[in-house]
Amino acid sequence: MLCLGIESTAHTFGVGIVTDRGKILANIGNVHKSAKGGIHPREAARHHGVIAKETVLCALAKAGVTMNDIDLIAFSMGPGLGPTLRTGATAARALSVFYQVPILGVNHCISHVEIGRLTEGAKDPVTLYVSGGNTQVIAFDAGRYRVFGETLDISVGNCLDVFAREVGIPHPGGPNVEQLAREGKHYIPLPYVVKGMDLSFSGLMTEAVRKHRTGSDLRDLCFSLQETAFAALVEVTERAVAHTEKREVMLTGGVAANKRLREMVGLMAKEHQAKFHVPPIELCKDQGAMIAWTGLLMYKRGVRHKLDQTQVRQRYRTDEVDIVWR
Ligand code: AMP
Ligand code: MG
Repeated sequence: MLCLGIESTAHTFGVGIVTDRGKILANIGNVHKSAKGGIHPREAARHHGVIAKETVLCALAKAGVTMNDIDLIAFSMGPGLGPTLRTGATAARALSVFYQVPILGVNHCISHVEIGRLTEGAKDPVTLYVSGGNTQVIAFDAGRYRVFGETLDISVGNCLDVFAREVGIPHPGGPNVEQLAREGKHYIPLPYVVKGMDLSFSGLMTEAVRKHRTGSDLRDLCFSLQETAFAALVEVTERAVAHTEKREVMLTGGVAANKRLREMVGLMAKEHQAKFHVPPIELCKDQGAMIAWTGLLMYKRGVRHKLDQTQVRQRYRTDEVDIVWR
């Protein structure tokens, strides 16, 4: 059985083709880039609309199959930006109706966990999912993926990106902040905000920008911003590990590219005798294979969506979905 998965929650339009045994035959991504960084939802949606057909054709060619070989269409139902989500959903519906194959809407955050479980052999990890749009600590419990902690305002990726933009660090923010942070020598105290199990990064970002304007060294600031934000992430993840007593920790999302964050999460996992997993960065980022794979898991366990149940959901929560395949 073959599933074609479409990802379009934000700047990436991705198409993945995956077999029901978990073999990824194709995973093609097309990322919308704006001049100043950041995402303008309608511009990104226009981009996705323009490149949708060619991305699907490219994925089919890469997989060496045609649309007639596809048995299931899955798409990112949310959470994400309304305009980009609707473009992906429209493409998915068109393919489903024209080729008369079933369609399934998939929760984007859950699919990050599922693709990691597939490729890393992680069975039951506590997952720290950190990206441009999301920051969540996720673990499976009693039939659902529960959110043990999450950001109350902006994501950690957004914190790094906006800081970079405000202080004149070129786009992309995250990797360039990481580069500069390596040269930082002194820790500058910044607001460290953990509320219960939740996190907040907007005050941290604002204060880091303010400190730059009042003359703090940029490399020290990058270093301190990373140390502060990542320590908060590790604290919440660690408490989820201690509470659930799970023996695996997984790091995913675009920010998982950061070596310092990997080091910090890895150290924490080691202290708890937990195995530490980071999928290859291509699978940490937004892509269609994770949507296809999660669609297959759902379909094989009997989940079906009628066409009128495929509306996108900008605030689709991780813990809303009954995980019938586990
Ligand atoms: P995603 O939303 O999953 O596509 O990931 C994009 C986010 O990951 C952006 O906020 C980037 O700044 C961030 N990112 C990418 N590479 C790094 C890095 N090396 N360090 C920190 N953040 C990164
Ligand atoms: Mg994502």
